[in-house]
Amino acid sequence: MLKVISIKKEYSGFKALDDVSLTVDTKERLSIRGESGCGKSTLLMIIAGLTEADSGQILKDGKELPAVPHKRGISMVFQDATLWNHMTVKENILFASMIKDKKKRNEEAEKLAEAFGIESMLDRYPTQISGGQAKRVAIARALAAEREILLLDEPFSNLDKDWREKTLIKTKELTEGKCAVILVTHNNEEAELFCDRHLTMEEGKFVE
Ligand code: ADP
Ligand code: MG
Repeated sequence: MLKVISIKKEYSGFKALDDVSLTVDTKERLSIRGESGCGKSTLLMIIAGLTEADSGQILKDGKELPAVPHKRGISMVFQDATLWNHMTVKENILFASMIKDKKKRNEEAEKLAEAFGIESMLDRYPTQISGGQAKRVAIARALAAEREILLLDEPFSNLDKDWREKTLIKTKELTEGKCAVILVTHNNEEAELFCDRHLTMEEGKFVE
């Protein structure tokens, strides 16, 4: 359903992505592992439409993806949580939610906040919560968007052990059978627990 074809991206002559191709089926769960700097984040950003590739194509259900990121049917958790500081935690979570009814929106925010242990922080601003809490808010926001494809860029990486496990389990529970997921991680255990198929990147390419 998502087809990434021959993507290339250079930064000042350095090949960040060197002819990368990839297919992700509807509701498939795929991990991408690899050392720091091998191009994982660049690939996700290009799929999300936030970085432009030098060449290559990305198709969804056979059609070229729209240039505008929010029309791609994709949501993303960035490597650094990246919340909007002028919005409360609750407003951040609901930012891309398609639910219109006010009561249902509140219920959705509360349900996700409870799942990720941030229920007491809904009225705070991102500057008033910790980095690990912000990461959980970013996950809740991506899930609230209910898009067909979810891109997760090291979503569990700066959580302490306890929250890391809880957050992974909850994220899996809330996404399984609902959307396709690409999880970028350098934690093997995380990849095994969360995904069914695994790819490894080295120096801008997938390797066996
Ligand atoms: P990963 O997520 O696997 O750690 P990245 O995709 O962030 O790797 O980066 C891949 C390579 O491209 C790295 O060597 C990084 O330094 C380089 N890179 C990423 N973004 C930029 C940029 N905006 N300008 C120049 N180099 C970049
Ligand atoms: Mg990265």
